[in-house]
Amino acid sequence: MTAPILTRADCLARDALDPLAGLRTRFDLPDGVIYLDGNSLGARPRAALSRAQDVVAREWGTDLIKSWNTAGWFDMPKRLGDRLAPLIGAGPGEVAVTDTTSLNLFKALAAALRIQSQGASAARRGDDRRTIVTERSNFPTDIYMAEGLSRWLERGYRVRLVDSVDEIPAALDHDAAVLMLTHVNYRTGYQHDMATLTGLAHEAGALAVWDLAHSAGAVPVDLRAADADFAVGCTYKYLNGGPGAPAFIWVPQRHQAGFDHPLSGWWGHASPFAMAPAFAPVAGIGRALCGTQPIVSLALVECGLEIFEATDMAAVRAKSLALTDLFIGLVERRCAGHPLGLVTPREHARRGSQVSFTHPHGYAVMAALIARGVIGDYREPEIMRFGFTPLYTSYADVWDAVEILKDILDRNDYDVAAARGAVT
Ligand SMILES: *Cc1c(COP(=O)(O)O)cnc(C)c1O
Repeated sequence: MTAPILTRADCLARDALDPLAGLRTRFDLPDGVIYLDGNSLGARPRAALSRAQDVVAREWGTDLIKSWNTAGWFDMPKRLGDRLAPLIGAGPGEVAVTDTTSLNLFKALAAALRIQSQGASAARRGDDRRTIVTERSNFPTDIYMAEGLSRWLERGYRVRLVDSVDEIPAALDHDAAVLMLTHVNYRTGYQHDMATLTGLAHEAGALAVWDLAHSAGAVPVDLRAADADFAVGCTYKYLNGGPGAPAFIWVPQRHQAGFDHPLSGWWGHASPFAMAPAFAPVAGIGRALCGTQPIVSLALVECGLEIFEATDMAAVRAKSLALTDLFIGLVERRCAGHPLGLVTPREHARRGSQVSFTHPHGYAVMAALIARGVIGDYREPEIMRFGFTPLYTSYADVWDAVEILKDILDRNDYDVAAARGAVT
């Protein structure tokens, strides 16, 4: 048992005992900033600067086109996928780092619908499933992509939105083709029980597609143990891959032979340099690729993954829960009397690595926090979102962030009329 934290000195004592504390030096964060937005854009690994310099100056500048072979550019989506795989319970040859989360979701959904309409099990059942079940509170692009795909297929597919997890069992009816869920909700930080929901989907004859945007590098994930069907996620959030870094897609071995999607570009071809007019998909995860990747950006993903190899997700999770517990407890104690509402579950099993509080002037309070160096973000409606990245956030950071929040609230030191930027 660790002693309860009551003072800043207690936080410093916890930091002194923290096995992850040393990893903070592997990131370059500006002085005077407490960065609680790693759930949206992870901080920069120190190594990313020299890696970018090397890719641009040597691999591109000097070695030019030879680098597709000599620098391993062509194999990078699969090589990085193998390095990412242990963080999500995936096997080797099952993950590719490529494209965006939106695009990868499109590919996974298309492949899942294809399996449902043409697979042997569908033929045996003789049914014709046309519904993608997801949550209204899902990150909008996930819903948009599912609706866009459904519309374009023009075969009666539809997206069914549920308003709570309790509605999922009933929504998994005879028409349900796919259950598409985001494991940790971007707004509330609520974490689904992946194994149970995947089991429910399978019992109902549906496939389970998971979005790990707020899970990869944030919470332990075991896709194989959960028997999930497909998964996608971002590398620029908790994995610290850099702004716009390519996303990932997981296709387990058992679905690879049947993985058929409409974005059949030449990078997914069995012999791309044969330049054949007919498409023939390569065996394995390579068929999830489409076209030429943004190599400079892709290369930087490795710098974030390397840092995770210095620890493990059990240690990251233990500290994440300690930090979020501390933040919740301190806000409730130090900022009592202010109209703050905890949105994130208190129950550990249901919590991701973020804490969200509502405040009637959430946008203005967040703007004031950012002006004072505490960087979180704001999500409609009224939600102040604080992401906790155990690799570079200390217990003392949590204390200091809450003290600044308390000061802003006690003194009403925020501008309710503040103009909003294009990106919140
Ligand atoms: C952040 C996030 C995305 C982002 O998708 P992009 O294609 O990278 O813009 C998608 N889904 C979820 C659930 C997210 O949290």
